[in-house]
Amino acid sequence: MNNRTIILNSRPSGMPVASDFKLITEPMPPIGPGEIWLKTLYVSIDPYLRGKMSGTKSPRFELDAPLSSMIIAEVVESRNKDFSKGEYVKQYLDWKEYQVSNGEGLIKISSTLAPLSTYLGVLGITGLSAYFALLEIGKPQTGETLVVSGAAGAVGSIAGQIGKLMGCRVIGVAGTDEKVELLKTKFGFDDAINYKTTPDMKVAIAKACPNGVDIYFDNVGGAISDAVIANINKYGRIPVCGSISNYNDTTEQISPSLLPLVVYKFLTIQGFLIADYASKFPEGITRLSSWLNEGKITYSETILNGFDRLPEAFIGLFEGRNEGKMIVKV
Ligand code: NAP
Repeated sequence: MNNRTIILNSRPSGMPVASDFKLITEPMPPIGPGEIWLKTLYVSIDPYLRGKMSGTKSPRFELDAPLSSMIIAEVVESRNKDFSKGEYVKQYLDWKEYQVSNGEGLIKISSTLAPLSTYLGVLGITGLSAYFALLEIGKPQTGETLVVSGAAGAVGSIAGQIGKLMGCRVIGVAGTDEKVELLKTKFGFDDAINYKTTPDMKVAIAKACPNGVDIYFDNVGGAISDAVIANINKYGRIPVCGSISNYNDTTEQISPSLLPLVVYKFLTIQGFLIADYASKFPEGITRLSSWLNEGKITYSETILNGFDRLPEAFIGLFEGRNEGKMIVKV
């Protein structure tokens, strides 16, 4: 039996394209004593992979080697006493249909507590990023105004809902009218703006935020962030979670033009990396799970079916094809 793998064929320059990826088939790997055989079920598709592909984010992906990301897998054969056939695990694993592991680093998960795919989204890295970046850097207070960019995505949709739970007025920025509607209906945002059809985002943000912006949860950077920050209040807080509008840039963007505003508005702008909060994950997962179980937050997933659709799903992130968490089901 053959096993399929997706390798990095070329480093993307600008927008990633299908030929940057290559699907190869190899013989199924054998398993030895102490090892287990994993079958990939769900693959997390994330914007940060772009930097690892071009080599700007470390550790980078190597050419002609498998890509990898957070994966939910099933143990289909075990010669390791700590794992049994039929158990589910998650970890950063290769983009392979099947792979061998010695069990090191695998985290067991249960399909009875929550659907398996949620461990990649609302109960995984993206939900936790929303939780810690908003609560620890954004420090939301009742009555404040929170703007979230990339609002209909995996991180943004959860960040906005947590903002509502903290008593904020929440405004989302997203790229289609359907997403704007989803933010206001399903996710309970107070208002939302389609940045692709709005001619003047600075004016639109001012109109949606009559009391100014106290917290800006930044997922995208670029012109959207310029427009939001132009409306920021004194002592505003800006957790910078990501900057997807710049990930395909071929030249580095460094703009100090914001700095005077940082001074006279006493702003706190802080970069955020979820890895820094690993010791607090149990707290975040407990709180997110209870909100989910109590119906206080909800989530969306865009699930593409088929191992060969991994490149399409990844490219889709930069085309705004996902609502909520982008996942490939194998
Ligand atoms: P996501 O928001 O679910 O998916 C990406 C979304 O970005 C797309 O659906 C698209 O939505 C939007 N987008 C794409 N190109 C854009 C552009 N040029 N300008 C504005 N929006 C654009 O992805 P995610 O996993 O939740 O990640 C969101 C951000 O958080 C990313 O920047 C990611 O790198 C970052 N992140 C950081 C950490 C950390 O530890 N710091 C952890 C997780 C994620 P539209 O249709 O609205 O354009």
